[in-house]
Amino acid sequence: MEKENGQTALSVALEQLEIAAEKLKLEPSIHEMLKSPKRSLIVSITIKMDDGKWATFSGCRVQHIDARGPFKGGIRYHPNVSLDEVTALSMWMTWKCAVVDIPYGGAKGGVCCNPKEMSKGELERLTRRYTSLILDVIGPYRDVPAPDVYTDAQTMAWIMDTYSQFKGYSVPECVTGKPISIGGSEGRTEATSLGVVTCAREAAKHLGLKLKGATVAVQGFGNVGWNAAKIAFDMGCKIVAVSDSTGGIYCSKGFNPYKIYEHKSKTGSVVDYKGCENITNKELLETKCEILIPAALESQITKTNASKIKAKIVSEGANGPTTPEADEILFEKGAVLIPDILANSGGVTASYFEWVQNLTREHWTLEDANRKLENKMVKAFDDVYKIAKKERSDMRTAALILGVGRVADAIKTLGLWP
Ligand code: NAD
Repeated sequence: MEKENGQTALSVALEQLEIAAEKLKLEPSIHEMLKSPKRSLIVSITIKMDDGKWATFSGCRVQHIDARGPFKGGIRYHPNVSLDEVTALSMWMTWKCAVVDIPYGGAKGGVCCNPKEMSKGELERLTRRYTSLILDVIGPYRDVPAPDVYTDAQTMAWIMDTYSQFKGYSVPECVTGKPISIGGSEGRTEATSLGVVTCAREAAKHLGLKLKGATVAVQGFGNVGWNAAKIAFDMGCKIVAVSDSTGGIYCSKGFNPYKIYEHKSKTGSVVDYKGCENITNKELLETKCEILIPAALESQITKTNASKIKAKIVSEGANGPTTPEADEILFEKGAVLIPDILANSGGVTASYFEWVQNLTREHWTLEDANRKLENKMVKAFDDVYKIAKKERSDMRTAALILGVGRVADAIKTLGLWP
């Protein structure tokens, strides 16, 4: 998908790598190695549609760098999926796993399809056939897929079953984000949002901003957005604005997001909630608030609106919601932007916990899983914050320095075979 100034996700990812490489004074040979994925597998997936006709979809699995451990990353079903986009997403996964210090390398998969127009049966056949085509490159010690845009716990269950049928025994550790009944982890659904809000809370401490009563606006009211609004509300924040694809609502006095969830469940949208003013998604981003959580799409905060953002803290729930030009504008304004590779890393961390539980045949309590997640997130936030202070840089540059640096160290320590 094209961004500001003709930039694509891949050109942004490579530009970010360039910045980190320069700051780290990375050897050109390592920099060169990090620019491309270790393996990209392109597949053609032919399935029988409900009307009896055959249809062919293109898909891929891109594995970036596995110096720190097996590959890990989601599978996306979307009409805009392209090899370039999936490659960029696999690179971000590499840095994200390194920033939060979990033993994985980055990967991503995608199938170019429109899941909204497909039946459950068609999606199941697509998932099973795609799994069979990438079977040789995935596995518990090779590459562990997870959900991403328009794939969910059910999709992961189909992947686990297909993989297990080929192996001849049950292999729950081959995929994460599964339903609890077949080895999923407690708290996985809320984990990304818990991480997003925990990072905002840590940033607030540094800014001397009291979380109790702090005003929060959330763009997107899906899995990440709704859970982030709920967790922030439960921590004592005042939720003043939320939005979804149909528009947004604002109320300076604040509102209860649980009530908005009920309202959206009944009406299909957050708009037209009594006592709130309807606003556009553009207005939501520019709304008067202390904490802004973009949790919908990419490229929402751009050079056009960055100067109008009033929030002191921006915690990125979505992947890539801020463009590089907007990063600079926000940094100059003194806003603290917690980048996606740190802020939303709670999701992959909970996936890692699921994998560990599956490998050890254990099942942790929700309290255990959340406590471990909190520890990981706070440590990662502190590590990035310290680098940002030392380098006088924004948090995104600091997170990239940390992530790319850890991956480069692992590559150098392993050495080159043959
Ligand atoms: P979702 O599909 O559950 O929710 C997306 C929300 O965004 C929906 O409420 C939708 O109505 C809204 N939306 C769509 N278009 C919009 C628009 N133009 N303006 C405002 N809102 C709009 O998806 P999700 O799982 O919550 O993921 C959201 C983002 O978070 C994505 O970028 C995803 O890659 C990222 N992310 C998700 C996870 C996770 O664990 N789910 C982990 C890491 C990153």
